[in-house]
Order: sequence, then C-alpha cells, then structure tokens
Amino acid sequence: MAKEYSLTPSRVSRVETPFRRIVTQFPVPESIAILETLHRYEPVAMRGQPPVVWDHAEGFQVYDRWGNKWIDWSSGVLITNAGHGRQEIVRALVEQASSKLLTNYCFPSEIRARLVEKLASLMPEPLKKVFLLTTGSETVECAVKLCRTHGMKVGGRSKNIIVSYDKAFHGRTLGAQQAGGIPALKEWIGNLDPGFVQIPFPDGFRTTDISFEGFERALHDQGVEPNYVAGVILETYQGGSAAFAPSEYMRALRDWCTGHKTVLVCDEVQSGFGRTGTMWGFEHYGIVPDLACFGKGITSSLPLAAVAGRPDLMDLHPAGSMTSTHTGNPICCAAALASIDLVVKENLAGNSRKVGAVLHQKLRALQSRTPQIGSVDGKGLVAGLACVIPGTREPDADLAWEVVRRSVEKGVLMFSPVGFGGGTVKISPPLVISEAAIDDSVSALEEAFAEALMAHGAVA
Ligand code: PMP
Repeated sequence: MAKEYSLTPSRVSRVETPFRRIVTQFPVPESIAILETLHRYEPVAMRGQPPVVWDHAEGFQVYDRWGNKWIDWSSGVLITNAGHGRQEIVRALVEQASSKLLTNYCFPSEIRARLVEKLASLMPEPLKKVFLLTTGSETVECAVKLCRTHGMKVGGRSKNIIVSYDKAFHGRTLGAQQAGGIPALKEWIGNLDPGFVQIPFPDGFRTTDISFEGFERALHDQGVEPNYVAGVILETYQGGSAAFAPSEYMRALRDWCTGHKTVLVCDEVQSGFGRTGTMWGFEHYGIVPDLACFGKGITSSLPLAAVAGRPDLMDLHPAGSMTSTHTGNPICCAAALASIDLVVKENLAGNSRKVGAVLHQKLRALQSRTPQIGSVDGKGLVAGLACVIPGTREPDADLAWEVVRRSVEKGVLMFSPVGFGGGTVKISPPLVISEAAIDDSVSALEEAFAEALMAHGAVA
C-alpha cells in the first residue's frame, strides 16, 4: 500500500550547497494551498510523490517558486535524459508551434518523416520500421498485438502466449498491466487473460537461479508449451530494482526465441536514449530484440513513444489499422528530434557511463557499511538500492520511505520508493548531471541513510 506525505510542515535543517537549497520548512508552507487544491480535485491515486511543487527545472535541477532548489534524481520519471528545460528543445518547440502546424493525426507531415527516419537510423538492424505513439503503455499494447498476430500467422491460434517476468512493470492499461508481474496491480482485472504468463526474472538477488535452464523450467512448471509462446517481453532492466539479467541468459533467450518463432520484445521505455551508459539498454547483452518499445526519455519533455521493429512484424497489419489520434504530433516530434540531437551530439550515453561509474562506486561503498542495503543494481545513471531487513532479502519499505523523505528534505529530489515490497530507493538523474553534483547528492543520501537508521533504532 503506497503511503502519502503529510501536508503539515515540519522543521527542516537549513541546507545550502551550490546545487541544492532548502531554507524553509517542508512541505514549503506557501505551497500547501496548491497541494490542497490537487488533493481536492484529483483522485487519491495521484498522491504519493514527495510534495515538492515544481515551478521550473533546468539541467539537473528542479526549482520551486519560493527560492528552493533540488538536485533531481528522478528526471520526472526518467523523462529528462537530455536535461530539464533545454534551450535547444524549447527553441524547437517554439519554432514548430509558430509554424502553425499543431496537429495532423496520421496525415503525412515532414517532421514526422524526419523523426521516424532519425530513429530508424539510430537503431541496429533489423529494427528499421518505427510506429509513433504517445505513452509507454501504448507501445506495450502494440507489441503484444504484433506478437500475437505474428504467432497466429506462423503457429495457429494457440500460439498466443505472452511470457513476461515477475515484478515487471509495463504500464497500467489492460494488456500492459497483465504483462506486468506485480499481482497487487492486477487485482482489479478480475478475469485475467490466461495467455499472459510470468516467470522469475534472473536478477541474482531475489532469483538466485540465473541460468537459462530456469526459463525453460519455469515454462514447464506452468504448463506452457514452448511452441505456443508468441512473444517474450522484458524490461531491459527491471524498473523496480534496476536489475539486469545476465548476458548469457539473454543470448540464450535470443536463440530460444528465434528457434521457436517467438518475438522477443525489449521494453526500453526506461532504458533507452543513453540512460544505462549505452544508447540502448539491450546493447549490454549483445543482442537485438525483434521489437523495442520506447517512451519517457525520447523527448526529455512532451508525450511521445515509439515501437521500433523488424519490418515484417511492423507490416503485419494492413493500412489504417495501427493508428492513434496523436501519433507523431508535430510539436512532440520537434521535441524528440531536438532531444535526440542533444543525446547524440553531447554523447550523453558516455556521460551516463562515466558519471554513473562514480555514482555506483559510491553506492557500493555505502552498501559495504550499511547492512540494510541488500543490493545495488543498475548501470550508468540508473541505480536501485534495495533496503532490506539485515541478513535477509525481506524488503524494508519503511526505511526506504524514510531515506527518500529525508533526501528530499535535504534537497535531493527522488520519487517515492519503488519495486518489490516498496523497498527500492531509485536513482535516475538527468544524463547531464556533473560529477560534482553526484558527489554533493550522494553525501545527502548518506546523511539521509544515517538519520533514517537512527530513527529506525539501528546504527549505520
Ligand atoms: N514500460 C516501462 C518499463 C515503464 O517504466 C513504464 C512507465 N513507468 C511504462 C512501460 C509505461 O509508460 P507510460 O507511463 O508512459 O504509459
């Protein structure tokens, strides 16, 4: 059960460094009226994030209207890969808006042509066709549709099973939610589609058998006939932990999918556009999927998502049957082109790799003196710290919550804990963050851990 933040301001210590500044109570007293309006008019389900009222954001920093600033470790929710509020993106948006083409549905436009061409040029073979959508969930729905369409074509109506992973998150729409591996999020569905099957993710922490035999055994145990598997979909790293699968496992999975005429889908909604230190997350595995889903960091700003795939799969549906009202909206395309240009020209995957190495080294050092950190996962500028009851793999959601709360009060903005049992503290700054800002924010995290453990009755 997700927690909510109290709207009663408490005293916080004065924090002032070159990168963060909080000189008030938290939540900021002047922000309470806005927070209350949101509480009054939005569903309860929208609450749960730290009550920082964003005014503007630049680079790797977020500002409120009252003079406070945070180092952003959220990137929104892994959106702003190229940084917040980049002038190059703003200029592209203004230019496109001034051209008076604000929308054009699926009617052709030059800017949509430029974006799909750009995306295809960055993709490895054979991911050379691109379908633009608006949200990550839609890309997963589309991938499921293509997997099943292909499965039925090559193997008859029984070849319709979608295999995915325990603890996975692929979005909140009906199909994407069923491809996910978090049972609590699916309770509302009532009549789950038996064609969605989840198996353990080989993270090496909560699943200790990381061999590919584990994949085949899990299918067997669930009575899944391998030839009936239409698609296997995985987050390139699991968003809830930042854990990657072993490369050997992924290479074996690639071969297995090819051998069984099964479509392999990488959900790159979080891991694309440099996040993990390579342009695409799947590069770490030395494989190429048949379909890849993108969203979030594709624009660093406006809503746009994309499925890239093998042309024979992408062309399975006839003209007019895979469309969406806002597909390739011209302003969103302008944002994507400008953001992708920045990611490429500024080699932000390289910065993610370089600064991420410093981040991970510091986090591992913190882990070595903190038995309450069970694992540190991730690559590049994404990391997950699993808070646990020492000596076990049991998640400690209260500790994770306290760490995040105290970090935010110290001027490091994070989203609420994620992952199994709500125990993962997730770190995902914009890829433009500097080493100095990483030093500064990790020291705030260390203080937050020490204080949270003290409050917990443990000594760091
Ligand atoms: N896939 C992954 C891996 C995600 O992290 C998310 C969003 N957190 C989604 C899909 C769904 O994206 P959206 O919220 O844009 O629908």
